[in-house]
Amino acid sequence: MSCQICSAGASSYITHGTHHLVRCQGCGLVYMDPPPAPFDVQTMYADTYNGATGSYFTKVDRKLKRSRHRIRRLARMCGGGAGRSFLDVGSNGGFMVEAAREAGFAAAGLEPDGAAIAWAKQHFPRNRYLHGLLEETDFGGEQFDAIYCSEVIEHAPDSNRFVAALAAALKLGGLLYLTTPDISHWRRPRDITKWDAFCPPSHCIYFSPANLTRLLDQHGFSVEWRALSFKPGIKLIARKRVESQQAKAAA
Ligand SMILES: [Zn+2]
Repeated sequence: MSCQICSAGASSYITHGTHHLVRCQGCGLVYMDPPPAPFDVQTMYADTYNGATGSYFTKVDRKLKRSRHRIRRLARMCGGGAGRSFLDVGSNGGFMVEAAREAGFAAAGLEPDGAAIAWAKQHFPRNRYLHGLLEETDFGGEQFDAIYCSEVIEHAPDSNRFVAALAAALKLGGLLYLTTPDISHWRRPRDITKWDAFCPPSHCIYFSPANLTRLLDQHGFSVEWRALSFKPGIKLIARKRVESQQAKAAA
């Protein structure tokens, strides 16, 4: 299987349990080859949060505070939340959706875990919640001004399909706030099995800032801001500069 981003060949990277990962010789993307089966992906998503009974939805105040901090930057770069729409792809307990509503956005969350949605509806009832996976959701032509997608892209076996779906759900000129682990970070443990973000098959693809920027560019996104991170994670905001189909036609 050649690289999804640059089409170069790949060499063996690590075999972890029954999972084999390779590293692209062109752009350094690390990914499962073969990719996880669709059934596994569904199973993984279904129990990601151990329902809402696990420890995930503790520290509610801290999660809301972090969400408010992140939404401030996004709202500022949008020109304010008022009159604009917001979608959180992988909205978990609805913290970011609630923060977006507070900032003036018409806010919605998309989440494959039904228990997480139920929790969000109960605690933050003034928002709209959609149940499902991004790649399989039909928005009926609806497009958003801003999309937030944190720690989700590393779960998607087909990152081109995933980013194309993000692009399709975003208005021209709209902003995408994206976070994912950074395998190239200087503070990532040298023994990758000691890295808390290394967990195949749940995380089946591992980016660097360079190859993620390239992937986004191929789908019509320009990165306008990237956080300086002291932890091995990528946090960036990209603007959709062209329609996805145009980007494909130009490629
Ligand atoms: Zn590559």
